[in-house]
Amino acid sequence: MGKQAVTVIGLGPMGRAMVTAFLAEGHPVTVWNRTASKAGELVAQGAVTASSVEEALAANELVVLSLTDYDAMYAILEPAAHALAGRVLVNLSSDTPDRARAAAAWAAGHGAEHLTGGVQVPPPLIGKPGSATFYSGPREVFDAHRETLEVLTGTDFRGTDPGLAAMYYQALMTIFWTSMLSYLQTLALAGAHGVTAAEMLPYASRAMTMMPHFLETYAPHIDAARYPGDVDRLAMGAASVQHVLHTNRDAGLDTALPAAVDGIFRRGMDRGFAENSFSSLVEVLKQPAG
Ligand code: NDP
Repeated sequence: MGKQAVTVIGLGPMGRAMVTAFLAEGHPVTVWNRTASKAGELVAQGAVTASSVEEALAANELVVLSLTDYDAMYAILEPAAHALAGRVLVNLSSDTPDRARAAAAWAAGHGAEHLTGGVQVPPPLIGKPGSATFYSGPREVFDAHRETLEVLTGTDFRGTDPGLAAMYYQALMTIFWTSMLSYLQTLALAGAHGVTAAEMLPYASRAMTMMPHFLETYAPHIDAARYPGDVDRLAMGAASVQHVLHTNRDAGLDTALPAAVDGIFRRGMDRGFAENSFSSLVEVLKQPAG
């Protein structure tokens, strides 16, 4: 039997990598993109360009969406909603859990299934071993298309709530963006002292690789809402964060990031957590800032 045919809508760097991976495994692929010229290289590889969204939807049951966000999905699919019945939308676009749930209901209203996906690797790792994507939505729909989706990445089904894959994705992107921004702050500080990114690389990498140790230590405490200050006290952390803030300020840098960190520590101190561990700040983060 031939490989399952797929439609891919959205040809940014991620969508293009996905089309290439499908074609390399022998899947017939129909593509559509707002900016049609982005399909050129893919057509040379064997993809077929649909001349309209309706045609792209009509071509295949399985429709992979790789768009900037869900607004882009509505902009593309609303005008063609009459062509959605019977389609399986695998939405690998980033957005919030609430928007994923709303999209699943919207798709169902048009007779389509919706699987939410959160891709955890950049485009060069699509189709490579060790990559993974979170999925959530109807289990039987996921199972029916799992083999084809595994051409792109490994799959990790998180549950039937359509918001779950988006929640896992955004939770981990919270780590990604804040830690990568902290890396840039580190490099700005090093650079202000004449130290290059290349010189900092082994030290920054070592700091990152120590993180799982802290995660493992804190996870059971956080689940139990116990924050023993036996190894680290929040008061010590608050003083340390002040030193970080002042070091960045003295170097003439933008201090928005360390100042935000300092603000969170101060709120923990104000809540009386001085003798608890740093992990007690999770209680501060559970509510909007006052
Ligand atoms: P891009 O933002 O570069 O892709 C944008 C795609 O969305 C293009 O096809 C673009 O069309 C289309 N688009 C955006 N707005 C509209 C609109 N209003 N109407 C019609 N089409 C629109 O994203 P990537 O390809 O990099 O990523 C796709 C998804 O994958 C994103 O949700 C991203 O968060 C996620 N992701 C990306 C990773 C990465 O490293 N790139 C890693 C993991 C996940 P046009 O070409 O016409 O502009």
